[in-house]
Amino acid sequence: MPHPEPLRALLGPDATPVRRALTDEAGVSLPAFVDHHVHLHLINGERLPLGGIAAVVDLGGDPAALAARPAGALPHVTYAGAFLTTLGGYPAGREWAPPAIVRQITDPSPQVGRAGGAATAVDEQRLAGASVIKIVLHHERPLPDDAVAAIVDTAHAAGLVVVAHVEGDGMTRRAVDAGVDALAHTPFTERLDEALIARAAAAQMWISTLDIHRDDAEAAGIARENLRAFRAAGGRVVYGTDLGNGELPLGVNPRELRALISAGCDASDLVAALTDPWPGTASLPGVRTFLRGRPPSGADGLAALADWLASASVLPSEDLLPDLDDEAANADSEDDDD
Ligand SMILES: [Zn+2]
Repeated sequence: MPHPEPLRALLGPDATPVRRALTDEAGVSLPAFVDHHVHLHLINGERLPLGGIAAVVDLGGDPAALAARPAGALPHVTYAGAFLTTLGGYPAGREWAPPAIVRQITDPSPQVGRAGGAATAVDEQRLAGASVIKIVLHHERPLPDDAVAAIVDTAHAAGLVVVAHVEGDGMTRRAVDAGVDALAHTPFTERLDEALIARAAAAQMWISTLDIHRDDAEAAGIARENLRAFRAAGGRVVYGTDLGNGELPLGVNPRELRALISAGCDASDLVAALTDPWPGTASLPGVRTFLRGRPPSGADGLAALADWLASASVLPSEDLLPDLDDEAANADSEDDDD
């Protein structure tokens, strides 16, 4: 069995060899896994912990329904509330986007208390408990620059980060220019130039959502190469699937992990993307990810590791005890070698 240090070299500094107190199974403990892009109104979110996901970020839903969720239940939910878009803009009118989840901004005013006002819409989400503000920069009908500026300023003044849906030529540049903190999808409609990638990597975090393009080779290739360049420029990437968008597994999606590998991620990058506490700063307390056995190695390589990570369970921290036998056994064998 591997010594904790090789385990940490492979999976990152938070990987710990453990045994379950309740069953004596040996395995590896990691911080809670997070899907950073879901839509709970479109899925049976209660099932996610059975698939290894302990926490989610809802990036487009009914703020009142999200605010009414019982506290303490799994998955832990942080949320944006409604999509802020322009009049008639995406996703208004889409079958999956009822009026309760969309706010059409008609007044770019930075003052609260105006009907259809940009600042009013931010304030509504804040009062509903949002920790993120979601805006739409879709090339067909993007939010105007003054509305984006008012939203970003109001959100930042309230301590909220802004995440954008960008789609179409020039939309990523507008998001970077406007000071948007995160992109809800790796840009998938245009290859970004090196200078823009560098600016994005310095200022933004990107949510992966690569597997939604599995039936569109062109979009998949554009997203993969943008993500590869963004990572090479030092950009922070988190795992997200856009759950609710088409047929996706209710849990850790091994195809999303394999797509991240094809964009250049290694095992510790996958773990970092799954365990990033964004939009918070600390992992969910009281809960850990449990992976049975030891990570696969050898010829099967990273693809097998993606499947192993997708077999994760969510367990209470107190069920996972440090595997002292493992550490002692390794110490003995090292002594024998000497
Ligand atoms: Zn989405």
